[in-house]
This record gives sequence, C-alpha cells and structure tokens, in this order.
Amino acid sequence: MADKRDYYEVLGVQKGASDDELKKAYRAMVKKYHPDLHPDDKEAEARMKEVNEAYDVLSDREKRAKYDQFGFAGVDPSYAAGQGGGGFGGFSSGGFSGGFDDIGDIFESFFGGGFTGQRQNPNSPRKGQDIKTSVQISFMEACKGTGIDIRVNRLERCSACSGTGAKAGSGAETCPDCRGTGNVRINQRTPLGVFQTTKTCDRCGGRGKIIRDPCPTCSGQGVVRRVLQKNVSIPQGIDDGQTLRITGEGDCGLNGGPNGDLIIRVSVRPDEMFEREGFDIYTEVPISYMQAALGDDITIPTIDGNVKYRIPAGTQNGDTFHLRGQGVPRLYRSGRGDHHATVRVMVPKNLTKKQQDLLRAFNDSLDDRNNPDKKKFSDWFK
Ligand SMILES: [Zn+2]
Ligand SMILES: [Zn+2]
Repeated sequence: MADKRDYYEVLGVQKGASDDELKKAYRAMVKKYHPDLHPDDKEAEARMKEVNEAYDVLSDREKRAKYDQFGFAGVDPSYAAGQGGGGFGGFSSGGFSGGFDDIGDIFESFFGGGFTGQRQNPNSPRKGQDIKTSVQISFMEACKGTGIDIRVNRLERCSACSGTGAKAGSGAETCPDCRGTGNVRINQRTPLGVFQTTKTCDRCGGRGKIIRDPCPTCSGQGVVRRVLQKNVSIPQGIDDGQTLRITGEGDCGLNGGPNGDLIIRVSVRPDEMFEREGFDIYTEVPISYMQAALGDDITIPTIDGNVKYRIPAGTQNGDTFHLRGQGVPRLYRSGRGDHHATVRVMVPKNLTKKQQDLLRAFNDSLDDRNNPDKKKFSDWFK
C-alpha cells in the first residue's frame, strides 16, 4: 500500500475541490484511460482502477471526510476489517466505532440522541438503529437498474438467549437499586436548595435488569454483531446521491421494538459520453462540415445503443436534435426522459494546397445569403 497515490493527486484536483470539479476531473480521466481506448494496455487499466477508487472515495461525503482525517486507513476496508468488531470500512453505523465490550456502548446507541433529561424506561420497546451504507454504480447501471452485493455489520438479536442476555434456563432479575427503571434519583444540596436529579443506575448500567448467569454467545448483551451480506436491487432511473431505504434490515430492535432500516446511498459514476439532467440525457455528436451542409444519416449514441438519425441540410453547429422517450427510465414510474443530441461541426484542419483552393472556389460561389463575408453584420440578426 506504500506506493498508493493520494486520491486528490490521482484525480488532479485540489483538496477542497467541489463535487462539480470532481465530476469534471473524473470525466477527463475516464476519457484518457478508458479501456475501450486502450485495449490490452495494462498501464491504462491500472490507472483506470486507481481513478475509479479515488472517485469512489472522494465523491462520497462520509468516505471523503474519513480519508481527509485518516488517509487510506480511514477508507480501506481491508485495513478496517482487521480492527475487530468495529470494522466498518466506508460504512457508518450510528456512531459505533469500537468493539462492544461495554454494555453502555450498546445502550448509548439505542438511546442515542433524543434524550433530554430523564431516560425512558429501559424495558420499553425501542426501535433499532438505521444502518447507512453507500454503493457506487456506473451511469449505465443507474439507467438500466442493477443488483449489487452489500456487506454491512449489524446488530442482531442473539438467538441463543432470545435476546434476554441470560443463559438458557436462567433469567434476568429486576435491578433492586433502580427497581427496573434504569435510573436512580439523587439529591443534590446546593446553596439554592436541594435539587433532585436522575442518573443512570450504576448497578445495572441503565438496563434495569441484572443478569447473574450471562448468555455465553452474546456475553449477556442480548444482541450479537453479524455481517449481513445481501444482494440489493437498484431500480432503474436512480440518480447520483439518491438513497434507498430497506425497512427492517438495520440493527435489531430492543425489547420487542422494530428493527431499524438499512439506508443505501447510491452514487453514480459520470459517463464519458452521456450527461444526465433529471431523466434527460445530453450527448454531443461530431459531424463533418459536409454532413451539416447537405444533411445526412448520422449515428447518435444512446443508452440503448447507436441510433440512426437523419439531420437536415443546412444543420448548424450547436443544433440539438431530440429523441423523445429515449432518455433515462423514470424512477418508480413508467415512461422515460428524452435524449438530446447536440451536433458539433468539425472544421477540417491541415488542408492541402489543392483543398484550400477548392474551398476558396466554393466560398466564392456562395451568394450573399450564405456568406458572412458578403453580408452586412446587422443582417444576421434579422
Ligand atoms: Zn445471548
Ligand atoms: Zn439498576
């Protein structure tokens, strides 16, 4: 890993580069190293891989933040996997980071946020945490839909003890200190009087229960951390930055509460040929000067492959042709956006003497209407 290049350097952008700058840089690199342009070129292939990896990290806000802070160690899953229970790679899961030796850790995560003042009864049902992860797919996969394998680390109810945390045959006792509430009241004497405050019960760690004979599978926690491997289908029409929510696939709930959800952020790699705006696609198609002047059947690349299209005589540079209903399928709906092809007239370069003469002769033959040299400037706007 020592010879790995900095991701910003790979894409040739500054550290504070905006999303737009990243996209632009990525597109430029794809144009440079795309395997179609360099068949059997190992060097280009390696570069392309490097570019994809850099874009994968830098285009994801969370991964980028981790990379900025910890370097490759912050985003490389193989590195993180060696870190015991907390190996999340680029994932985040409600603030978990370390192992789960401490019941309080798990508790904090279930109770995390939303609590001001007194804690709720620890025995009431509670929803599990949502798990966030991110995937990256190609432009074409976003257009056509795809299936993608994800791996997340999540909390599941321990089946050995049915989530009680007590070894089979034994049970949990209500904590005598807090009588199962998880909190104890303490009186605080101050010059202004006596205040009563609540704090987490030390004896049961806020759990309200004491387990004398803990379940060996989950060490009395009632939950275990497992890797969920799942093939998720990504619907056609999804766009960069959108999220999918899979209900009930997050961390397990507590005390019979519902599971959290699995939230998947989808990032879409830009394509070297197509630009997308909503469900419409934009492409540029180079044509020759003659094709523009005389009209021709040109080839327009679309997400369904090449389409023949007849452009009329007298087509101008920058004219756009619209292929209705040949854009991106609408997400969760029927129908598709449009495909817009803008022609770029390629002006011939490096003409021979003979060609130059022909062109001059041709130009002289044009009447005033077709020749900017002979037409008054103001007439162009009539
Ligand atoms: Zn257990
Ligand atoms: Zn207690």
